[in-house]
Amino acid sequence: MKKSKFFLISSLTACAVIFCLAMLPVIEKWMLPEMLRDSRNENGSALRFKVEDAQAVVFYPKDSEQEFVETMTSYIFDDLSKMDLTSEKIKVDYRNFYSEPYLFLCFDAVDEQGKLLKVYSGICDTQTHQAVELDSLVSESFYEVVSSELRYQTKASGILHDLAYTSEFYEKTTKDALRNLEFFLNEEGVEVYIETVLANQTVLLSAELESSLFYTLMKDDQALYQPSDLVHPVRHYVDVNRPMVSLTFDDGPVKKNTELAIELLNTYDARATFFMLGYRMERNHEVVLDVLNSGHEIASHTYNHPDLTEKKTNLSYQYSRNQEILSEITQGQASIGLLRPPYGAFNQKVKESSPYPLILWSLDTLDWKTLDAQATHDHIMTNVKDGDVILLHDLHAPSVESLRTVLPALVDAGYQIVTVSEMMEARGIEMQNGVSYSKARKE
Ligand SMILES: [Zn+2]
Repeated sequence: MKKSKFFLISSLTACAVIFCLAMLPVIEKWMLPEMLRDSRNENGSALRFKVEDAQAVVFYPKDSEQEFVETMTSYIFDDLSKMDLTSEKIKVDYRNFYSEPYLFLCFDAVDEQGKLLKVYSGICDTQTHQAVELDSLVSESFYEVVSSELRYQTKASGILHDLAYTSEFYEKTTKDALRNLEFFLNEEGVEVYIETVLANQTVLLSAELESSLFYTLMKDDQALYQPSDLVHPVRHYVDVNRPMVSLTFDDGPVKKNTELAIELLNTYDARATFFMLGYRMERNHEVVLDVLNSGHEIASHTYNHPDLTEKKTNLSYQYSRNQEILSEITQGQASIGLLRPPYGAFNQKVKESSPYPLILWSLDTLDWKTLDAQATHDHIMTNVKDGDVILLHDLHAPSVESLRTVLPALVDAGYQIVTVSEMMEARGIEMQNGVSYSKARKE
């Protein structure tokens, strides 16, 4: 529910609103059609209205926060009356759940076929009897996780078909596009709904989250708050039958560049592999956590970028130090599984001793040489093929800037943008330690 409308009519009762506003539906004595009848009447009450042939009934709970409930029902009447209701029958039924000190209330509007048309939700603080905004309960990461889950579950369900793989879908499901989502918490978990327009059609998207995950995403001054994990899971849907590429970033993390890369990648539901230098991880704990909590992959580019084929290089230190740093930052909640040797240089000794698969690349953007976002864009879009591992450097700002155009271009060219591990798994490649991989073509 949008805040402004919600408070605008908060002091009026539902009935008063219906009688006062001209052009609104007239309450008439009419026979309740079959689909609008409900046994819930015993526990709650019903309001109904009729415009020409259109009829709607709203059931609401009677035994709880009366003013809050009336504000919501009046908002619903107002909203329904603006819909094109000609010859329609709409039933709006409620669900409520108490979790001290909050009342979570949700109204589902369905048509005669039982199709969910709209969801209206609200949260009430039962101590102050005031409406509570979701923003005041949840942290920023909540919206990031909802964005990922909404995309994951929409793709997994197949309801949007190809539309779920377009830049339009991603741009309308970013964390910032979800600020007006409808939200309902009950004993089974969290449900979120967002109405949006895709390919000129209005669609109602939804996702479910487990309660435990939701609680870790609350602000830590909340009564419902439970201790959080440093690293929370973010799922990413990969369709093994669609084309895909891996974007890889070397030589970071660099706070400003890497954070911008994450933001742009998240906008387009893209997951990347960051081959990090250990000494930079030590200086950027927050960035390392942000990379993980956006669902990206952290891999090793050694501690301080030596040539692994040189005799003086301490191989075991270069192999193990990054994992030690990552364990320290995440309290043991994340691990490294891939190594990219600096300069792509390795020899027999490295192959025999590496505790990780060696990841090279099949598309070198030469971004470090051109230092030009447009040149990087052109290089990628001219050469990209299904199964490519694309080499970029988040050390350089223009490389990250190029993502602004590269990401929507790749997406609308049909590519999923996935981590190296996701791509290898999707293509059935079982990576072995000490073996080098530079691409994952479809067989
Ligand atoms: Zn490097």
